[in-house]
Amino acid sequence: EKIRNIGIIAHIDAGKTTVTERILYYSGKEHKLGEVHDGNAVMDWMPEEQERGITITSAATTLQWHGCKVNIIDTPGHVDFTAEVERSLRVLDGAVGVFCGVAGVQAQSETVWRQANNYKVPRLIFVNKMDRVGADFDMVVKSIHERLGAQALPIQMPIGKEGDFLGVIDLIEMKAIYFDEASQGEKVTVEEIPDALRAEAEHRREELVDILTHAVDTSTVDLICEHHMAGEPIESELLRDGIREGAIGLDIMPALCGSAFKNKGVQPLLDAVSYYLPAPEDLKQVQGHAVDSDEELTRELVKKESFSALAFKVASDQHGDLTYIRVYSGTVHEGSTVENSTRKKKERIGRIWLMHAEDREKVDTAIAGDIVAVTGLKFTVTGDTLCDRAHPIVLERMHFPETVISMAIEPKTSADRDRLGECLQLLAKEDPTFTRRVDTETGQLIISGMGELHLDVLKQRMLREFGVEANVGAPRVAYRETITVEAEGEGKFIKQTGGRGQYGHVEIKVEPFQGEDHLTIENKVVGGNIPREYFSAIDSGIRSACESGFLGDQPLIDLKVTILDGSYHPVDSSELAFSSAATLAVRDAVARAKCVLLEPLMKLEVQTPDEYMSAILGDINTRRAEITRMDLEHGVRIIDATVPLVEMFGYSTRLRSLSQGRSTFTLEPERYAQVPEEIRKKLIP
Ligand code: GDP
Repeated sequence: EKIRNIGIIAHIDAGKTTVTERILYYSGKEHKLGEVHDGNAVMDWMPEEQERGITITSAATTLQWHGCKVNIIDTPGHVDFTAEVERSLRVLDGAVGVFCGVAGVQAQSETVWRQANNYKVPRLIFVNKMDRVGADFDMVVKSIHERLGAQALPIQMPIGKEGDFLGVIDLIEMKAIYFDEASQGEKVTVEEIPDALRAEAEHRREELVDILTHAVDTSTVDLICEHHMAGEPIESELLRDGIREGAIGLDIMPALCGSAFKNKGVQPLLDAVSYYLPAPEDLKQVQGHAVDSDEELTRELVKKESFSALAFKVASDQHGDLTYIRVYSGTVHEGSTVENSTRKKKERIGRIWLMHAEDREKVDTAIAGDIVAVTGLKFTVTGDTLCDRAHPIVLERMHFPETVISMAIEPKTSADRDRLGECLQLLAKEDPTFTRRVDTETGQLIISGMGELHLDVLKQRMLREFGVEANVGAPRVAYRETITVEAEGEGKFIKQTGGRGQYGHVEIKVEPFQGEDHLTIENKVVGGNIPREYFSAIDSGIRSACESGFLGDQPLIDLKVTILDGSYHPVDSSELAFSSAATLAVRDAVARAKCVLLEPLMKLEVQTPDEYMSAILGDINTRRAEITRMDLEHGVRIIDATVPLVEMFGYSTRLRSLSQGRSTFTLEPERYAQVPEEIRKKLIP
C-alpha cells in the first residue's frame, strides 16, 4: 500500500516538466534545480526535448516521499505522441492534472483528460502558475468543472495572488503553509491562518465538506456527514479518508494550487499524492485472458499471486534493450526465466533496474505494483505480457493506431546509408506508431508516423543517437489500397536462353479479407506441383508485391492471397524464380480485383465562441467533413467532425484567422476509408 504509480498530465506549457523537476528536487532525487528554459531539466533527458522544451518520451522515475515509493511515468501532452500517452495511462494508477492558473482548461488537456477518463484513472488537480498576472484558482476550478465535467474538490486556497502569491491554506488541517524563497522553497513553515483570511478559509472548508458529502457515498463520508450535521468538529484524518475514497472512486478530484516555478506548493502536492491517489492494491485486480482462448483470467494485484507484468516501453541504448515493465502481480527476480505469453517465447530477466530519468539503480526483485526496467529480453516489444511460466495469462493489450503521415527519407552519404536501416529498425522497435518501408517504384525509404512533429523528432534522434544524417521530404498523407472483388492471377518467371535458366510459375487468388493481420496467405497447392522448399520464397514474393499496391505505391491491406497451383522445372527452378513469379501473380490478380484507395480520416474537434460558429462550420463543410456532433457547453460551441487528413493541412492558420485566434482544435487519427473516385482521379490520374 506504499506504492503510487502516477503520471502527470497537462497541456503543453502548463508546467508539467517544472512540476516534475521540483518533485524530484524536494524528494531528494536531484541535488540541483533544473529549469526548462535552461535546457537542463532532468526528466526531459532526450536532447530534442531539452531543445524544444517539451516532454516526449515517457521516462519512468522512482522516488521516495514520506515512506511512499512514488513511480512517476512521464506522459507527453502532444497528440502526435498518442502511443506514449496510451501506454503510460495503461500502466499508471493515478495522475496529477497540471493546469495553468491563467489559461485554465486548454484543448489538449481535454484530449488527455478524456483518455484518462477512458482508463478510469483517479486524479488530483494542480493549478500551477499562481504567481502569474491573471492567475485565478477559482476560475480554473470552475472551468475544469464545466469543460471537463470533473467534480474538483478544492482542498486548499491561495494566500495572496500574482506577484504576492505567498503560499496556501490547507483546508483540512486549517493551517497556512509558506515556502521559503531563500532555500528555493525547501524550507516549509506551517503557521496559523492569518486573521484576514480566517473567515474565508472557514467558509471554504464548509464548502469542501458540502461538496464531499454530496458527491461521495461511502460509510466514511456518512460519518463525516453525521458529525457535520451535529455541528461537531471533523478530525482531519477522517476527512482525508473520506476524500481518499471519493478520489479513488472517481467521484471527486482534490484540487490544489501553487507555483512550481516559484517553488511554492509542490510538497503539499506530494503529500496529496500519498494521501489521495490509489496504491496498486486499491485497484484489486487486473484482467486478462488465457494464452490460447478467450477464457477470462484475473490476477489479484498482490505479491502472493503468480507473476504477471506488462511491457509498456522498449528503449534501446548503449547497453542494449531496456524494457520498462509494470508488475501487476507476484514477484520477479533477477536471472529468472519467465514466459512472454503474447509471443509464446521464453525470456530470461537479466538485470532489474529502478529508473531515475538517465540514471538507474540495480535491484534484485520487483513486486506487484512496481514499475521497473529490465535488461536481457530478446523478443518482448511494447504491449507484451510477461508472466509465470506455470501460470500463463495474457493481459489486455494496448492498441496503437495506424500511421497517417509519411515522408521520404534519404541518407546523406553512403556511410549513412548503411547505418540508416539499422537505426530505423531500432526506432520502430521502441515506437509502435513508427513504421518504415521501401517504395518499390522509386527505391526511396519511406517513414510513417502519427504527425509531423513525431517524424521530425525521430529524424533528430537518428542524427544524435546514431550519427545518421538524412534528408527528409515534405510530409504526405499515408494512403493505403485495398481490393474490392475476388480475382485470380498467374505469374511466370521463365528464362531459358543460354546458360542456366530460370523457372517459376505460380497461380493465385486474391480476395477482400479482414483478418488478424492486414495480409493473410493460404496455401492450397496439392500433389507436389510446387516443391515445398519454394513456399517461403513464394510467401516473401507475395508480401513484397503487397507492399506496393496497384494504383500508386501504397501498401495493400485487408486481403487474402490463396496459392492455388503452379509448376516447376527440375533444373532451372530457384527461390528467386518462385519469389518473382509470386510477385507477378499478385500484380496480375490485383489488376483485376478493382483496387480502391484508402485515406486516413481524422476526428476533428473544434471549440469556439458562438460568434465564429457559422464561419467555422462553413469552412469545415468545404473539407469533405462529416459533422458528428454540435453542442453548446457552458457558452462554448463544440463541433466534432470526421475529416480526411489531406483536407486538414494548414488548418491551424485558417482557424486562427476565422476566429481571431479564439478557437482551438484537436485532430486525432480515427480510421481508414475509401477515397471518393473523383478525388482519387485527381490524386492518381
Ligand atoms: P510543460 O510543457 O507542461 O512541461 O511545461 P514546462 O514545465 O516546460 O513550463 C512551460 C513554461 O512555463 C516554462 O517557461 C516554465 O519556466 C514556465 N512555468 C512553469 N511553471 C511556472 C509557474 O509556476 N509560474 C510561472 N510564472 N511560470 C512557470
